[in-house]
Amino acid sequence: MSVYNFSAGPGVMPVEVTNQIQRDLPSYKDSGMSVMEISHRSSLYTELELEAEQDLRDLMKISDDYAVLFLQGGGTLQFTSVPLNLATHYHKAVYLNSGYFSKKAIEAANRIDELTVQVIENSDPTSKLPKIDGHIDNVDYVYLTTNNTIEGTAYHQIPKFDQSLVVDMSSNILAEPYNVNDFDLIFAGAQKNIGPAGMTVVIVKRDKLVKQQLLSDVMDYRIEDNKHSAFNTPPVFNTYAAGLTFKWLKKMGGVEAIYQQNLEQADMLYDFIDNSKVFNNDVPAAERSITNAVFKTASSELDQEFINQAAAHGLVNLGGHRLVGGMRASLYNAMPTDGVVKLIDELKQFEVTHG
Ligand code: PMP
Repeated sequence: MSVYNFSAGPGVMPVEVTNQIQRDLPSYKDSGMSVMEISHRSSLYTELELEAEQDLRDLMKISDDYAVLFLQGGGTLQFTSVPLNLATHYHKAVYLNSGYFSKKAIEAANRIDELTVQVIENSDPTSKLPKIDGHIDNVDYVYLTTNNTIEGTAYHQIPKFDQSLVVDMSSNILAEPYNVNDFDLIFAGAQKNIGPAGMTVVIVKRDKLVKQQLLSDVMDYRIEDNKHSAFNTPPVFNTYAAGLTFKWLKKMGGVEAIYQQNLEQADMLYDFIDNSKVFNNDVPAAERSITNAVFKTASSELDQEFINQAAAHGLVNLGGHRLVGGMRASLYNAMPTDGVVKLIDELKQFEVTHG
């Protein structure tokens, strides 16, 4: 059965990538072994890791000043790894609280006794995103979430700081162009725009890394950088699959080209919602996510009716996060424009019968 998968993650993957995985699975590069069976100390693995890393460097224009790591533990482990690796001088960090996953990062940072965590809340009633202007003295880093997967908001423009900036880019890495040089650290779980769950990309400025005595070696960016992310057994299959997605994205024209497609899709959907009498979205236009569009009807019963009806027509996983309800259409890079056209048709039909 063919469906359009609007899941927030693990999310839709390019069909070219899943087809390639299927072809490669019995025997990777004629080795007689599946890629899931090869040793992480073999040249088969080191070559695929180096190639994936180079392709990501090309796509995001990442210089050698930065380490590119492929780690395990998800975005969630980074909530702890980031402060333990980076909050080593002032033992103070500033967190912009833009939603659920920022809160999770703040909770994790607060568990570290020696760390002082300053939280910035949004105080502007016309905005959904907290902001800071200018300089905050004596902090190791400022932290923000570029795209808020649950709330459907995003920082498309990154505020300029003198300080080190750390971002959780889990849900919009490679979906819109950001300048890597604006950040000291970017992390992102793979399961939205990169591939299967189980691998996390960390891009970190090498000169920020100092030797850590008490940190587990697998959480120590410096050690992982020295070992090409293979200090212990790395997520071989996931890095292989991510590498295929990077190649696919290069073939599609790179981040700038996919961004144009993502913008076009998001604009089509938001344009429909803004003119709808049944569906609405209350995020200010400039702060709307282009990867996770959230919207609602007037009641949760009607929302559920729409979600069920859309699923019956092959538009699946449109339910919003359990904490916020409503609908959420995740439009990751691999979502074909036809899926968004079909979704809008479905919304129109619903409006005709329920308006
Ligand atoms: N940050 C963001 C923005 C996310 O969307 C998610 C997961 N949806 C996470 C962090 C947590 O990632 P993981 O489940 O891989 O730990």
